[in-house]
Amino acid sequence: MQLFERIGVDDHEEVVYCHDRKSGLRAIIALHSTRLGPALGGTRFYPYESEDAALEDVLRLAKGMTYKAAAAGLDLGGGKAVVIGDPRTAKSEALLRAYGRFVETLARRYITAEDVGTTQADMDIIRRETTHVTGVSRWLGGSGDPSAATAYGVFHAMKTTALACKGSNELAERHVVVAGVGKVGTNLVRHLVEERCHVTVADVDEDAVDRVQRDFGVDTVPPEKAHALPCDIYSPCALGGALNADTIPELRCWAIVGSANNQLADASNVDLLARTDVLYAPDFIVNAGGLINVAEELAGYHRERAYARVRRIYDTTLTLIQGARAEGISTTAYAERMAEQRIDDIGRLVHITTFQ
Ligand code: NAD
Repeated sequence: MQLFERIGVDDHEEVVYCHDRKSGLRAIIALHSTRLGPALGGTRFYPYESEDAALEDVLRLAKGMTYKAAAAGLDLGGGKAVVIGDPRTAKSEALLRAYGRFVETLARRYITAEDVGTTQADMDIIRRETTHVTGVSRWLGGSGDPSAATAYGVFHAMKTTALACKGSNELAERHVVVAGVGKVGTNLVRHLVEERCHVTVADVDEDAVDRVQRDFGVDTVPPEKAHALPCDIYSPCALGGALNADTIPELRCWAIVGSANNQLADASNVDLLARTDVLYAPDFIVNAGGLINVAEELAGYHRERAYARVRRIYDTTLTLIQGARAEGISTTAYAERMAEQRIDDIGRLVHITTFQ
């Protein structure tokens, strides 16, 4: 497929290829939509096997950010960037600063943040070339690592699903399986244990399991069996694709609420899930806490205000569950429609393409 044809499939606005020979920078920035505001999305640093694979990933991720920001009620569009290379060996101050200059040239149409393969320290370096970066250190006016805010949002969405499925938002005594105890998963386990839930964790990294078991006294399950363990809520907090044709028929929970992006392996799994009694809380709704938190930096970061906004995920999730039930459609379809509706209603009011 020709490049313009590919970019046109999902109607992306702009794709920028960034190259700096001396530092080895090869990056792609994709702006899917700036109709609601500047496109905010992280920079992924990853050893893609081809330029095509990098382009596919950045286009898919940028579109996802448009939906996430719109459904969260933010005045932000969707964008994302990928740097091609192994972050352990290819990353340098020169490369990050060269990349920061490209971000600066986009004149706030794109605002970056950390993602897989980039860290808060990297954002601090990029900040030396551009102010259009979030998730920088607190001494630079930033909010730091967004994972705690993401977990806080997922936790509140779990309360909503309990209310919608069991008539009470109380999570005490509920059994929750958290698959993936990295940055988000660990923070989530902390909330659940404080709420007196029965928590079981799984991770491919045995050290991570040991750490969480030691710190919180939780139960464990092998990662390949996590989805099939009888429980109340299954929470995928690792990589994408946890819900697929193999795992969905084996689910033994009544709700799925997790932080992982792209939990549904492909669109056909929406129908497969609809044939079960399991309520799926769409990932891009429940994991928006980190985005909501970094977006607060744009107005001057204030933690209490940011967390109050993250708590609204509770209401957003309730609106979408009730709406989907009333219309007899999937929660995924309803959530996508909520986002598209906001882009249509509010996006048409924006006539400028640069943002102050
Ligand atoms: P992380 O890398 O800190 O943690 C991921 C954990 O999953 C690791 O401990 C890893 O060992 C484990 N894992 C990998 N494969 C697994 C498997 N098959 N089964 C069980 N565990 C497995 O990442 P994170 O920041 O905690 O993010 C977790 C997920 O949430 C990712 O999908 C991420 O894209 C998504 N997310 C994160 C944020 C955020 O603020 N960090 C925001 C939105 C979405």
